[in-house]
Amino acid sequence: MEKKKSTIKKVAPQAPKGMRDLMGEDFYNYLGFFEKSAEIAEYYGFKPIETPILEDTDLFTSGVGEGTDIVEKEMFSLKTKGGDSLTLRPEGTAPVMRAYIEHGMQSMPQPVMLYYYGPMFRHEKPQRGRLREMRQFGLEILGTEKSIADAIIIKTAMTALEEAGLKNLSVQINSIGDKSCRGAYKRDLVSYYKKHINEVCKDCKQRIKTNPLRLLDCKDPKCQATKEKVPQAVSYLCDPCKQHFKEVLEYLEILGIEYTINNNLVRGLDYYTRTVFEIISKPEARKDEEKKTMEENTEEGEVKEIGLTVCGGGRYDYLAKSLGNKKDVPAVGLAIGVDRVTMSKGFESTMPRIIKKPKFYFIQLGFSAKLKSLSIIEVLRKAKIGVMHSLSKDSLSAQLAIAEKMKIPYAIILGQREVMDGTVIVRNMDNRSQEEIKVEKLGDYIKKLK
Ligand SMILES: [Zn+2]
Ligand SMILES: [Zn+2]
Repeated sequence: MEKKKSTIKKVAPQAPKGMRDLMGEDFYNYLGFFEKSAEIAEYYGFKPIETPILEDTDLFTSGVGEGTDIVEKEMFSLKTKGGDSLTLRPEGTAPVMRAYIEHGMQSMPQPVMLYYYGPMFRHEKPQRGRLREMRQFGLEILGTEKSIADAIIIKTAMTALEEAGLKNLSVQINSIGDKSCRGAYKRDLVSYYKKHINEVCKDCKQRIKTNPLRLLDCKDPKCQATKEKVPQAVSYLCDPCKQHFKEVLEYLEILGIEYTINNNLVRGLDYYTRTVFEIISKPEARKDEEKKTMEENTEEGEVKEIGLTVCGGGRYDYLAKSLGNKKDVPAVGLAIGVDRVTMSKGFESTMPRIIKKPKFYFIQLGFSAKLKSLSIIEVLRKAKIGVMHSLSKDSLSAQLAIAEKMKIPYAIILGQREVMDGTVIVRNMDNRSQEEIKVEKLGDYIKKLK
């Protein structure tokens, strides 16, 4: 009898668009990068913080700012049963500042240096290197306006990226001034764009009114020519801002960090003041491509084949007040896009600490050996010896083949006779010599082999 085809189409379950499962190698790549970066951050004096995945929506509307893409289009928000509006954090800086204020960290010795790691959520069009759930490693230095903080944070991120094997890193940097000098710059920017209003895209026409600094972030090809001749933020800097920027650049020079001043770099979040920067991972560029690289890099986000923005950040001296703090808290921060790091040229995985490089492959033969095998693995675990095994396989040759394929130097073999004798055979996979060892001596014996 023929079955009737169901009219309801069954769709296999899938992760939400722009979100993905992390497994196997991928998982280790992420965890390894985080552990290594956290270790580096600790050396530089940062301490860990983990903020909730959800925050009051207000935190982002008043912190990140109305008129930004993040707030207008990209937030995943939900209403709780109690009627509160919460949002999946789209970035980590506002939550960290919220925590700083909430826990009275202002009365601690300043600056407070923090690092964090975790997923951020933005409702964007998914593409290579841009996910809706993205993982970031972030650093914040709160409570100082000193230029050395800007330099330390860039240096720490550069070290983390270099340790991850990324090649050809370059820092794009700019200063967008502070309250006292940014007004004039914004005014001139607006009047410049008003003159060119017919040459820019629909979004930019809107941005002229709502958030003029965002104009420089526009990725629409239509707007690129206009963007090229915009007034330059650095030429509007007041003396203290100029001095601050000069010092940051001097530190970078002393630290041997290659940088380019990029006048179109503003990073469109409301809270940025003074220093803004991005770190780009370029593929080995030919000389004639260098200029193009710079132009392309003015856009936040993926830079086609030319390079990836793997890190972005800046100073945010006014964020605290916009979140309702009585005083300004000068601060600087950055976030590394870990998804992009793992897909960058040269990326080398650092094995996370939970992974013990297997030196031993455990082989069991027959049912009584299987029964005993878990207690042997436990003996090894107590001796802090990680082993690989495949308890589902039965034959000696199948198990030896796996050990060989994985280039594991020693096999520990447990057959029926060994179970009776309370021993195991330790076999050198290289020269095939083997020795019979009492189970209770196994830990010590193996330690000597290491
Ligand atoms: Zn535009
Ligand atoms: Zn200024």
